[in-house]
Amino acid sequence: MNAPFNFSAGPAMLPAEVMEQAQAEFRSWRNSGISVMEISHRDPAFMQMAAQAEQDLRDLMSVPANYQVLFMHGGGRGQFSAVPQNIAGPGDTVDYLNSGIWSDFAIREADKYVSKVNVVGGTELTPQGKAISAPETWQLSDNAAYFHYCPNETVDGVALHQIPEGIRAPLVADMSSTILSEPLDVSRFGIIYAGAQKNIGPSGFAIAIVRDDLLGKAQRNTSTIMDYSVQAKDGSMYNTPNTFAWYLSGLVFEWLKRQGGINAMGELNHKKAALLYNYIDQSDFYSNPIHPDFRSRMNVPFMLADERLDSAFLKQAAERGMVGLKGHRYVGGMRASIYNAMPLAGVEALVDFMKDFQKSNG
Ligand code: PMP
Repeated sequence: MNAPFNFSAGPAMLPAEVMEQAQAEFRSWRNSGISVMEISHRDPAFMQMAAQAEQDLRDLMSVPANYQVLFMHGGGRGQFSAVPQNIAGPGDTVDYLNSGIWSDFAIREADKYVSKVNVVGGTELTPQGKAISAPETWQLSDNAAYFHYCPNETVDGVALHQIPEGIRAPLVADMSSTILSEPLDVSRFGIIYAGAQKNIGPSGFAIAIVRDDLLGKAQRNTSTIMDYSVQAKDGSMYNTPNTFAWYLSGLVFEWLKRQGGINAMGELNHKKAALLYNYIDQSDFYSNPIHPDFRSRMNVPFMLADERLDSAFLKQAAERGMVGLKGHRYVGGMRASIYNAMPLAGVEALVDFMKDFQKSNG
């Protein structure tokens, strides 16, 4: 059976080559006769693999030497609480941009750990669609412990493509659905974090890239496994890490290097997104509600002219080998998530199907 093109938002499609390699060595990792899941995380072979995965991620993202790369537990939401606990005090104010559903969840979580979450701005409806309010209008606090935003809102399909300028507080970014998808200047950030299940590997795992000067500030009640300083000191092995997720993420990093790294990925991702948005824009059968400057290149929500056709669309897409297209329950319609592992051929197949569906139903 041919594997379908999987447009799921996360857990999401992983590169076929990575899955094949993992399958080939599943019962006998590096000819050891046992699985990578069955050996100690202190075993020299595992430690070497873990260090290589970190190095590969550092190479891919050009992470400067004064940043720690941490492999954390608890996915993206784990970081929603780790961030305020690690770099803000209970009496502090923190600034958040609210650009969509995931920003909103992050705000509600941070509110448990600090004195005030100041929401600096959000989205607005313009004649060209939903946009993020202009930075000049953001109501920044005088002394925020940090500024948090989500550059790519996975559910809303809204993205902020420019790194905010002129913000004094350390920038913290939830890059769960955009990490590794295009070049990025890591040095602009205090912390970058991401749940793994979109562009990295299995769910429940997370990466946090933390600037050294932000270590050592954790609130007293921070659980030890979520304490960046402890995890930095212990090489992300304070407790037993998710060894399989670490291994699989390492395979994805190797794969990314073979594809030509993040520059090559960025070009391909621009191409994939443009193909889909251009088709949607010229059609009067499909629509995308986001202002062109704020459209996500990873998650493309779209509506059919008549929502009564949604279930037929999904059924026929599945028959043509395309799955995971149902929109998030908060938004409805469709959503095509086109992360790194989605080949251009997958987006081409989707556009071809959309044309055919329009022809027979438009
Ligand atoms: N942030 C963003 C932008 C996300 O898309 C998600 C998950 N879809 C999360 C955070 C939460 O991640 P997790 O489910 O791993 O906690």
